[in-house]
Amino acid sequence: MPIRYWLWDKQNGRCYYCGVKLKKGRLASDRMRLMNIEHDSCTSTIDHVIPKSQGGIGTPGNVVYACLKCNEERGNEDFLDFSERKRNET
Ligand SMILES: [Zn+2]
Repeated sequence: MPIRYWLWDKQNGRCYYCGVKLKKGRLASDRMRLMNIEHDSCTSTIDHVIPKSQGGIGTPGNVVYACLKCNEERGNEDFLDFSERKRNET
């Protein structure tokens, strides 16, 4: 099973950070981002707990399903700091 489906099921189809309902299996791709294609807030992404730029890899323990908004908002902020901040916002 592709990891995105597995994560979606595990998180009941919700963004890990803000809890918004996400569509199954449709991920924002880097190509779409580069082309500036509009995304709605329920566009899904795979977010890395340890960012790829810091050596994080796409293994089940290091990825969460997140909406594009949270993914971009987090950037390279610490995973725990950001999830706590989002939890306090909602
Ligand atoms: Zn979110």
